[in-house]
Amino acid sequence: MSRMFLDPRTIRADFPILSQEVYGKPLVYFDNAATTQKPLCVIRKIEEVYSTINANIHRGVHRLSQLATESHEEARKTVQHYINATSSNEIIFTRGTTESINLIASSFCRSQCQAGDEIIISGMEHHANIVPWQIQRDITGIVVKVVPVTEKGEIRLADLEKLISTKTKLISLAYASNVLGTINPVEEVVILAHNHNIPVLIDAAQTVQHIPVNVKTLDCDFLVFSSHKMYGPTGIGILYGKENWLEKLPPYQGGGEMISSVSFDKTVYNDLPFKFEAGTPDYVGSSALGEAIRYIEKTGLEKIGLYEEKLLKYATEKLSQIDGLRIFGNVEKKSPVISFLVNGIHPYDMGMLLDRLGIAVRTGHHCAQPLIDALGIDSTLRASFAFYNTESEVDSLVEGIGRVMRMFDK
Ligand code: PMP
Repeated sequence: MSRMFLDPRTIRADFPILSQEVYGKPLVYFDNAATTQKPLCVIRKIEEVYSTINANIHRGVHRLSQLATESHEEARKTVQHYINATSSNEIIFTRGTTESINLIASSFCRSQCQAGDEIIISGMEHHANIVPWQIQRDITGIVVKVVPVTEKGEIRLADLEKLISTKTKLISLAYASNVLGTINPVEEVVILAHNHNIPVLIDAAQTVQHIPVNVKTLDCDFLVFSSHKMYGPTGIGILYGKENWLEKLPPYQGGGEMISSVSFDKTVYNDLPFKFEAGTPDYVGSSALGEAIRYIEKTGLEKIGLYEEKLLKYATEKLSQIDGLRIFGNVEKKSPVISFLVNGIHPYDMGMLLDRLGIAVRTGHHCAQPLIDALGIDSTLRASFAFYNTESEVDSLVEGIGRVMRMFDK
C-alpha cells in the first residue's frame, strides 16, 4: 500500500465495534454523520483518566488535581492547533455543537442585538442552527432571515448578499450540510460578510472530521463542532471564538469556575476561556477528545479526505445505477454523505430491512426539517461514511437495497 493511500484494514483494526455482527451479518456502519465509532486509544484514554488521575480540576493543590488539570488544558491546546487558532483562550469546551450555538445565540443577541436586528442563516441548517435563533427572536425581537437552497442543493452568494442589510448582525452557516453533503463556500461568505462588518459563525460539525479547517485562513469569528462526530467521546464539543469577540460577549451560564470573585453584591467574571465554562468541565471527555485528534493526525486529514472522497464517488456511482433511486444533493464539493430515496419504498421500511442485513443507515428528517420540506419530501435515507468504511461495504449496501426492492416487487 502506497504511503499516499490509506489502508482501511489497518484503520478498522483500531475500532473494536466494527468487527461485530448484527443479526448474524457483519456490521456495516454508515451512520457516521450522526456519530462516529471510537478507536481503542480513545476508549483507553477514558479508562486511563478515571483509573490514574481523576480529580476535579483547576481547584485543587493536590497532585491528582494538578495532573487532571494538565490533561484538560493540554487537550485545549491540541484543539487549538488542530484548527490553527491563535490562542488557547479562544477554545471553549461545551457539551457539543448544539450548546456552542446556543451559547453564542444567547450571549450575542443579549449584548449585540435590539428588536428588528437581523441574523442570517441558510435553508440547509441543522435544527441546532435554527432553533437557538428562534428562541432569541422570542426574547429580543430579532428577525431570522434565511438564504434559500437551490434545486442542486447549494446556496448562492448573490442570494446571501441580497439579504444583507444595515440591520444584519451575524451570519450563521453550516460549513457542510448533514443531509446534502454540500460544502458551502464559507471563505467567500466570510469575505462578503466582513466587507459589511458582519461577523460569521460556522457550524463545522460535519467538516472537521473530513477536511483540514483553519480558522486563521477562514477568518471566521466563531466556529463550532462536536467531539463525538470526530471519533471522540460524546458530551463534549468546541466553541472557537476570536478573542476580541469572546472578551466582548457576556457569560452564558453562571456558577463555579467562571468567576474570579463573588459577593452577594457583585461578581467579577473569570478570564477567558473560563468565563464561558461554568461548573465542573468534562475533563475526561476533553482528554479523550485530545486523543481522538492525535488519532486523526496520525493518518492525516489530507489522506482521510482523499480516501473519503474516493469512497463517496464510488458509492455515488453505484447508487446512481439503481433504477428508481434518487440522490438529493449533487454538487461538486461534498462531504461523504448521500441522502436518497427509492421509488415506492418508504425510507423507514428500507432502513428497517437494511438493518436486518447488518447495514446501519439513517432515516428521517436528519434534524433539518425545513430543508426536507423545501425538497418536497418528508424524509430520506442517509448513508454517511468515515475513513474506516470500504468499497466492499458500499457493495453490501447496493446489494441490500436490491434485495429490499425485489421484496417490494420494484
Ligand atoms: N450541526 C450539524 C451540521 C450537525 O450535523 C449536527 C449533528 N447532526 C449538529 C449541528 C448538532 O450536533 P450535536 O448534536 O453534536 O450538538
